[in-house]
Amino acid sequence: MLHKLIYNMGMRYRNPSLIPYLKFLEESDKWSLEQLNWYQFNKAKEFFCFVGFYSKFYKEYFASYGFEPLKMTSLDEMKVLPPVDKMTLIERNADIYTYFKFPKLIFCETSGTSGQVLQYHKDEVWDSHNRAAMFRGYRWYGIEPYERNGYFWGYNKTLNWKGRILDELQNRFRVFSYSEDEITQFVNKLKSAKFLEGYSSMIYEVAKIVNRLGLSGQFDLKMIKGTSEKIYNSYQLEVQKAFGQRIISEYGASESGLIAYECPEGGHMHINMENCIVEVENGEIIVTNLLSRSFPIIRYRLGDAVTLAPKDYKCPCGRQHPVILDILGRVGKNIYGKTGKYPSLTFYYVFKNLTLSKGIVLNYQAVQNEPGMVHVKIEQYLPDLAGIIDVEMRKYFARDLDYTLSWGEKLHSMDGKLKDFITTLE
Ligand SMILES: [Zn+2]
Repeated sequence: MLHKLIYNMGMRYRNPSLIPYLKFLEESDKWSLEQLNWYQFNKAKEFFCFVGFYSKFYKEYFASYGFEPLKMTSLDEMKVLPPVDKMTLIERNADIYTYFKFPKLIFCETSGTSGQVLQYHKDEVWDSHNRAAMFRGYRWYGIEPYERNGYFWGYNKTLNWKGRILDELQNRFRVFSYSEDEITQFVNKLKSAKFLEGYSSMIYEVAKIVNRLGLSGQFDLKMIKGTSEKIYNSYQLEVQKAFGQRIISEYGASESGLIAYECPEGGHMHINMENCIVEVENGEIIVTNLLSRSFPIIRYRLGDAVTLAPKDYKCPCGRQHPVILDILGRVGKNIYGKTGKYPSLTFYYVFKNLTLSKGIVLNYQAVQNEPGMVHVKIEQYLPDLAGIIDVEMRKYFARDLDYTLSWGEKLHSMDGKLKDFITTLE
């Protein structure tokens, strides 16, 4: 009760437009697809008009491709704009900002894959409406954001006083280092928590400890949410055993906002189409963040390969929001064979086939330092499977790629996200 009060006061101060918008989202949650499309189109048109007026970069961008938001009659018209990537947001940063005077701005920073840092400011409505979409997802699981929760974020970081106060306001406790002592303490606190969120690879590590210490069955969690990383089947097996439920996924990035949230009934993610537009081109997601007025994100190449559900897919929950079936991971990186080049997702298929055809679930990480050669580390110790892996590898790479296998490896370096392919060639 006290936490609810503190939380609501904090929200009114920090995010005044959150609660009204959450009410709206709970209404639109029940809308037909026609209603959703109509709302999305009108919101997009208004957003593009605003951006075309206030942002120097987008004004020129729209003009050079003949895109006229005021005359827009269908979302398809935005397809004339070539997608924008993170590098452009970094290099053209000053021109992308809209010169509108927002009453309140929040500073954000996010790093790119090769180390460049993107900095920008979110206006209050952007931040609040994005949080509201996340809280709608919580409510699908019967959770209020002020309920006690455990959080895995930021390895080996310390929290300043502001962070500690925010944690207190959000009734949240975290784990900072990957020492077994600290994780055991965290697990004890988890017994009184209602939900758990963070990097899925960390949730997996904790589940392993819970199972090893025989602590399963002592938790009352309503939701375990994985963010930022791919959730592997092997994680699910371990987490299910520890906590009696799967990790559900939330998909999005700081600059794109929340893109999709997993449905408790369908097991797939519904697109948050009140706040964003999702397009898929050549298997790759292109996202437009309709909230991003202070620093517009339009037709943004997030770098993930995704699969959408067929148009006639009907989720058993009754929601009409389109569905993302699968996020395959980062696109763009290449595996170099002796002569050929392969997308890094190929390893994902090799190991997925093992699961589909043989029911074998392995955690892996491939490392490439020279063309034609990779080292594949596998967490489990099952060297008898080398032959079966070889069959799958040959299907994709024939004799073009040599590889070594090592078993019983610790894959997580605990200083960032778990990567399934590391290359020094690009
Ligand atoms: Zn659903």
